[in-house]
Amino acid sequence: MKRIVIITGASRGIGRACALYFGRRKDCVAAVGFRHPEALSEVCEAVREAGGEACAILEDLAQPGAAERVLRACEERFGAPDILVSNAGVSAVRLFQDGTDEATEALMETNLTSAIRMARAAVKRMLPRHEGRILFVSSVFGITGASMEAEYAASKGALNALAKSLAKELAPSGIAVNALAPGAIDTDMNACLSEEDRALLEEEIPFGRMGTPEEAAEMAGLILDAPLYLTGAVIPFDGAWT
Ligand code: NAD
Repeated sequence: MKRIVIITGASRGIGRACALYFGRRKDCVAAVGFRHPEALSEVCEAVREAGGEACAILEDLAQPGAAERVLRACEERFGAPDILVSNAGVSAVRLFQDGTDEATEALMETNLTSAIRMARAAVKRMLPRHEGRILFVSSVFGITGASMEAEYAASKGALNALAKSLAKELAPSGIAVNALAPGAIDTDMNACLSEEDRALLEEEIPFGRMGTPEEAAEMAGLILDAPLYLTGAVIPFDGAWT
């Protein structure tokens, strides 16, 4: 049966790979992004070529009201979502004391507040049907913490707590909520690494390399296909890095 899947941050990286994964499963993908409209259109085309259906939804999720607009656009095109992959996120690498209140606010709006708003808007549509699945893409840094990425790690730790809390609240309603916590995945988010830093990082990872977006998407797919009893889990995916 075709499922209706909302994926945020679908224009590139892990979100794009997730969109293609569900496309190959012939699902209906509501692909959400905002900074790269052409890339988002290309992702939708690739989903259709893979046998799925797709629509592009352009929204800056950091804006109030965006989550409801995304859900309404998804309902108009496909119907209420069966699955939400809340993946949109930004990183910030800096010394803690070099941050500003404005930068902190922007990071939290994108990484945490928008995920809360998206989940709330989705849950409202899932509750009447007594079924649904939500996956937050957090980070191993949300478990371990990370030097030079304190605010990012804090936003991801909060997402992990959100997943666990919602899982408890929503289990009686047939809605499973989990978090996928990737280690280092080879996407544009890590494009800022110099060759030397990248080599050092890969040396630290027992698997010897970063994960690929396709591997992360496959893992997301497995979690979303698991028995509903898998809920409230924060699942590291890091090649034994942490
Ligand atoms: P990426 O930068 O390639 O993609 C991020 C996506 O989020 C983009 O599509 C971007 O347009 C979207 N986005 C950002 N701000 C948005 C906003 N305000 N509204 C709508 N969309 C927005 O990064 P990625 O590596 O694919 O990261 C995906 C997720 O995985 C992020 O949440 C990231 O924190 C997490 N993650 C990544 C890594 C890694 O090493 N790449 C590791 C752990 C966790």
